[in-house]
Amino acid sequence: MLADSPPVLVPFNDLARGLARDRSALDIAIADVLSSGRVILGPRVREFEKAIASYVRVAEAVGVASGTDALELALRAVMPEGRSTVLTAANAGGYTSAAAFRAGFKVRWADIDPKSFCLSVSTIEAATTEDVGVVVVTHLYGRLADIEAIVEFCSARGIRVVEDCAQAIGASRAGRRAGSFGDAAAVSFYPTKNLGALGDGGAVMTDDAEIAARLRQLRQYGWVGKYYVAISGGVNSRLDEIQAAALLVRLPQLDKLNSRRRAIIAQYRRAAAGTVAEVASALGSSHVGHLAVVVVPSDRRESVRAHLARHGVSTDVHFPVPDHHQPGFRQFGAQHLPTTEDLAGRIFSLPCFPELTDVEVGLVCAALSSLDREAS
Ligand SMILES: *Cc1c(COP(=O)(O)O)cnc(C)c1O
Repeated sequence: MLADSPPVLVPFNDLARGLARDRSALDIAIADVLSSGRVILGPRVREFEKAIASYVRVAEAVGVASGTDALELALRAVMPEGRSTVLTAANAGGYTSAAAFRAGFKVRWADIDPKSFCLSVSTIEAATTEDVGVVVVTHLYGRLADIEAIVEFCSARGIRVVEDCAQAIGASRAGRRAGSFGDAAAVSFYPTKNLGALGDGGAVMTDDAEIAARLRQLRQYGWVGKYYVAISGGVNSRLDEIQAAALLVRLPQLDKLNSRRRAIIAQYRRAAAGTVAEVASALGSSHVGHLAVVVVPSDRRESVRAHLARHGVSTDVHFPVPDHHQPGFRQFGAQHLPTTEDLAGRIFSLPCFPELTDVEVGLVCAALSSLDREAS
């Protein structure tokens, strides 16, 4: 650390706190796994698959090794015959683009709606080509996209919809949860997600028994049974018993922790009102507050972040470079996405995790409300 850099008073994340809170239950769950002698795809994975499927209110969930694997396998499982393009947003961290590449598909990006930060029917309509077989809708930052209208638009055109729920597990509208609208949905249990494991993990959810059966084959070498490869495109992407056991400890707490995230964002939003920084709202059950995202004029972003850093508040940017500007995705071709590009230069994220203390939230609020005086 530089001698003159201010101390971090509010970390961007601190996984040790949630682990300490859950420690005794996790210790017991892990000890049970060790005693059982089953470590991969055993009874706890099955139990967790049933629990998360029933939480999301879909027929099936298939545990895999990560959220990116969940996207890849979902794409392989639902891409219609004769098509090979995945259409998605370019502002969602590149996970879908990486997954589509691995699955051997082409990627096209659609622009985003400036209010929701997500795809909308009109941005999808403007970008759709005949070869688009799957649209991946990322419920970004915790906010449910306009998914009902998107599903209606896509199904009329023979396009399958995969929901990326990595940031939005638990979000709901009119009694339906994120992950229950499309043909399939991917979720990540990376430790900083709203439902985090003790390492990598993910799942694909679906209401379609045939898709679920294909996913169970794809995650294990394409096997229909031991050593018989029934379908091509199989990989090794399984969920461990220890991860499933930890997730079974944590799933019952998810709704409460999501409420805490929303409450933190509401406080930030009030504190920043009238300043140059607009904290995006996360009210209601359709948002689970994965990230507290702030929008500022692009020429003020670095001064605002520097002001917050002087007050000990960590910040980050989700995400600084849109997919279509990433060198690693150049093979998918050049596109111009005005809203995506504009927002990438204007957003940053504040600390937002359920274990933040009230004192820490207060420090962030004080730093936000003092913005105009010190940062201009
Ligand atoms: C984290 C994340 C993923 C990828 O999940 P991993 O488990 O890290 O592979 C996919 N999509 C979104 C929107 C994410 O935030």
